[in-house]
Amino acid sequence: MKIAFIGLGNMGGGMAANLAQAGHEVRAFDLAPTALARAEEAGCTAFTSVREAVDGVDAVVSMLPNGKIVDSVYRTDVIGVAPVSALLLDCSTIDVATAKAVGEAACSAGYEAVDAPVSGGIAAANAGTLTFMVGGSDEAFARAEPILAIMSKAVIHAGGAGAGQAAKICNNMALGIHMIGTTEAFAMAQKLGLDPQRFYEIISVSSGQSWSVTSYCPVPGVGPQSPADNGYKPGFAGALMLKDLGLAMEAAGTAGIDAEMGKRAFELYSAWVAAGNGDVDFSGIIQSL
Ligand code: NAD
Repeated sequence: MKIAFIGLGNMGGGMAANLAQAGHEVRAFDLAPTALARAEEAGCTAFTSVREAVDGVDAVVSMLPNGKIVDSVYRTDVIGVAPVSALLLDCSTIDVATAKAVGEAACSAGYEAVDAPVSGGIAAANAGTLTFMVGGSDEAFARAEPILAIMSKAVIHAGGAGAGQAAKICNNMALGIHMIGTTEAFAMAQKLGLDPQRFYEIISVSSGQSWSVTSYCPVPGVGPQSPADNGYKPGFAGALMLKDLGLAMEAAGTAGIDAEMGKRAFELYSAWVAAGNGDVDFSGIIQSL
């Protein structure tokens, strides 16, 4: 297939490389020349605009920073420019309302489109082991699945347009809450005289276990390799966790849900990022305890 890939940053770079390695013709565009150069090294073809990249393609995949950019790129340079037969897949993490609006604009113009945000960080993007949660019609999902499968360990149909973003935002709200709870538990265990490694052995097979404990332990030297073992270099930057918690708070407001723990996680990450930790991995919040 001819696939346009827009946004070749930390995540998109690895994802595009996996599509190219699987034998697809990947037409890459990014505003950053360094990102484009990396994509070329990985077997993609570089283009100088979105409009050129989407010319004559079978699918468009995007991995962009936020909803405003996604909205602008799709409305200005993709819808009405890419062939109407092309499947549109936005994999960025953005707000549900923008995802639905872009999906509806694409459908009104005759395209099939999905919102397909991912779980898993840069390592999973490079390894092709992301989890995709997909919003869109059954027909659009059926077309999206084989493309997403190349970059993933799981592709799950969440529901109609915007449902992928809804799932992602709920997942990451739980993650932010779990991570803060995990950092408090480890800090308290240590103050109570427990050895962190011994506490890890206990909690990882007890009911306090979570992904934040066993896959991403915030304590250096404990559990499998994680950003804590690398000076809290992302990984998943604090600023991105704050962005996702902000989206979760917006969605909670719209849904009329009083997400008290989500709100507290948002407040704690807001203060921590404002103190200059936006580039630090989100598990580094343990250092503020
Ligand atoms: P990034 O900043 O590394 O990459 C974004 C890329 O988009 C950059 O290379 C930038 O130059 C490019 N870009 C910006 N505006 C553009 C435009 N108008 N046209 C073309 N390119 C443009 O960010 P990332 O870490 O790759 O994250 C991308 C998305 O994935 C975000 O929505 C993020 O929330 C989500 N995400 C990230 C992670 C992670 O661990 N980093 C995990 C899951 C989801």
